[in-house]
Amino acid sequence: MTNSIPKLIDSHAHLDNSRFGDDLDEVIMAAHNAGVRHILSIGCDLQSSITNAELAARYEPLYAAVGFHPHDASALNQESVDQIRRLLQQPKVVAVGEIGLDYYRNRSPHDTQQMAFRRQILLAKEVGKPVIIHDRDAHNDVLTILAEEKAGEVGGVLHCFSGDEEMARKCLDMGFYLSFTGAITYPKNDAVRTMLRRLPLDRILLETDCPYLSPQPFRGKRNEPSYLVYTAQTLAEIKGLKLADVARITSRNCYDLFGIGAIDTAATIAYQIRDSLYLNITNRCTNSCVFCAKFNDFVVKGHELKLDHEPDEQEVLSAIGDPTTYKEIVFCGYGEPLLRLDLILKVARRLKDRGCRIRINTDGQANLVHQRNILPELDGLVDAISVSLNAADAGTYQNLCQSRFGEQSFAAVTDFLRSAKDHIPDVTATMVTYPGVDINACEQLAKKLGVSFRIREYNEVG
Ligand code: SF4
Ligand SMILES: [Zn+2]
Ligand SMILES: [Zn+2]
Repeated sequence: MTNSIPKLIDSHAHLDNSRFGDDLDEVIMAAHNAGVRHILSIGCDLQSSITNAELAARYEPLYAAVGFHPHDASALNQESVDQIRRLLQQPKVVAVGEIGLDYYRNRSPHDTQQMAFRRQILLAKEVGKPVIIHDRDAHNDVLTILAEEKAGEVGGVLHCFSGDEEMARKCLDMGFYLSFTGAITYPKNDAVRTMLRRLPLDRILLETDCPYLSPQPFRGKRNEPSYLVYTAQTLAEIKGLKLADVARITSRNCYDLFGIGAIDTAATIAYQIRDSLYLNITNRCTNSCVFCAKFNDFVVKGHELKLDHEPDEQEVLSAIGDPTTYKEIVFCGYGEPLLRLDLILKVARRLKDRGCRIRINTDGQANLVHQRNILPELDGLVDAISVSLNAADAGTYQNLCQSRFGEQSFAAVTDFLRSAKDHIPDVTATMVTYPGVDINACEQLAKKLGVSFRIREYNEVG
């Protein structure tokens, strides 16, 4: 499943910079060889915007953004706005940027910077393309202007994000992405890594900001897009993921924001997270949980999970490939896997023959669905089962999970958990942290039922 060459996108580079004069062909080739498939090269003034648009037209992997950096805000006038607008008509010019505020170097007066920032947000809204925001020591004014100008309507990214977690959350709430550079590899930057651990990966982009901000191994040297791999590797370590996962998810984010690159829209039946392989076998469910992520988006960790049909045994087995490379194979799906009990039994038998460890993530209502106790059928086939308990009483459960079986469902779930212990070695009751849910009461109930207890992330399913 994992490809040794990642498919990364450098979402912020300055390839028009004079430090790339002679060897640009080699730099682009090196990026390709390192797995950096696309590069978004960013304008800072009229000339660099024109140059980047030309580069994007000339080199297949390149795209361009055009705009006036706050350093050059004083040079923005009606004529240059018109020229930027014309550049934005080109198909590979995908964003307005970089624009924003820089109160560190103060190369243009603050009010001039603010006017240019607002003017270019308006332009982005006029042409319907996202914005790339530069913010240095100007967090509050950047947030205020983004909100006042309703920049969230076109969306965009805060590049080389330098705010704290509170600011990050505000930006995410407004619909923006956050982009990080090689600075996350620097030994002293623990605070950024701690923050990154807590931010959702589906809103993060990676960039080099080359020729500046080389990652640790090349610090002090000219940065270039091929070095993005070091930043991606660091992000993978922070998130406890593989490089391929970070590449797929951040590239997907770039696709969603800028339309750069291509995504695989074919539904994923089997996908790897860490050392486990997850099997997506149905989108149907007996519940309609208020927190179910599938009601917003079928993309999980960069995988498209909306099935156009339910896969059969052969399709599932061929999607798995060699099962022995995983610590655990998990039947989950963006739906209730035990609705497909027959398929699970068939596939699990084949996997057990190969010595695999098998887990099922379920809502625990299979006995209502099949109108018999199905747990003895899992005996010897399933090593672990995670059952979504989510509440400590029937009323709360039904409010949250909205089972099609109504109020009897909660008793069915607790009975299922109790009976599961007789047939499956490792039984866990799980819950989602959702406002109004009593974690302690759930934990106590799990204890009473004699099963383990685990709090799930909001966007896990099952
Ligand atoms: S969270 Fe799980 S149980 Fe609830 S509706 Fe979604 S898939 Fe079904
Ligand atoms: Zn910048
Ligand atoms: Zn830049």
